[in-house]
Amino acid sequence: MADQTARADFASVPGNDELKRRLARSIRENTLGHAYVLEGSGIILPFAKEIAKAALCLGSGPIPCGECDACRKIDAGTHPDVTFISRGDRASIGVDTIRSVRAEAYIIPSEAERKIYVIEDADTMTAEAQNAFLLTLEEPPEYVLYLLLCRNSDNLLETVRSRAPSLRCRPCTPDELGEYVLRTIGAKARTLRDRDPDAWEELILISDGDPALAASLLESGALTKKIETKRQALSLLLGALSRDDDTVVTVSGMKKLRRDDALELITCMRGALRDMLISKKTNAAGTCFFPSADDAVNAAQSYPARRLAVALDAVSECGALIERNAAVTTSLLSMTIKIRNSQ
Ligand SMILES: [Zn+2]
Repeated sequence: MADQTARADFASVPGNDELKRRLARSIRENTLGHAYVLEGSGIILPFAKEIAKAALCLGSGPIPCGECDACRKIDAGTHPDVTFISRGDRASIGVDTIRSVRAEAYIIPSEAERKIYVIEDADTMTAEAQNAFLLTLEEPPEYVLYLLLCRNSDNLLETVRSRAPSLRCRPCTPDELGEYVLRTIGAKARTLRDRDPDAWEELILISDGDPALAASLLESGALTKKIETKRQALSLLLGALSRDDDTVVTVSGMKKLRRDDALELITCMRGALRDMLISKKTNAAGTCFFPSADDAVNAAQSYPARRLAVALDAVSECGALIERNAAVTTSLLSMTIKIRNSQ
């Protein structure tokens, strides 16, 4: 039997079936607009690439075919009519970048029927850049398609948003993400799943529905460090809650902890406390730190909700202090003691 997923439109994009159907229909019926905001987690960049391929695909059948000249060139980053704009190391996308996009967009496409600009982190465009962009959104060349990628379109000017409908991508479910990671990364992902199921489960959990994050964790080897940070966060948290004196000693000794690593630790503790607090109310909610709701229930059972709430406040406060450059060890120690002494 033929592989069902291989025959669907946007087969390589996990989840988001309704959105994929809508986009495929617009492309086939040639009713695609000139600008869209693609909003969501790390899935949006690979999705945007697939939209560009689908819009220019020369194949028949499901789009994008992945095999025609246009699809191949976009995959290789060599299609002359598809441009990805990123802010690189800068904090924002400035007006000069947008002005050159605007000028270039008026030159007719070299080989395709459309000219596509994918603007990554579009919500970091400065107000000046957005105003410059607005000029081309008001009267775009008929062949142009702009895809504005952002985590949160609230940061875009209302005038930009009103001319670029938002396509909201929802994060994928753990099953969809697992399937996607296996398919796109292949052997390395399969090896992890088969040899270390716990680490595999952590990968799916940590990446929180974001395929790009899952891929980069796996490729960069950062997964092991993430898992170690989570283990340490849980150990410190439960140590403080159970008034274990060794935990205070451990934290006092964490003199070399880097600020970034401390903030990672704080993020993990907050996730754990969030799961534990929610587990006091309902078993049905999804978890962000523990592999399952049952694990969160087990971790939380010895502590009343009010102590967990105090701990969450203490952890959040500690994170805010460290972000404002307060001394790392002192802040962590003060947090630990607050949690330990809570009633
Ligand atoms: Zn194609």
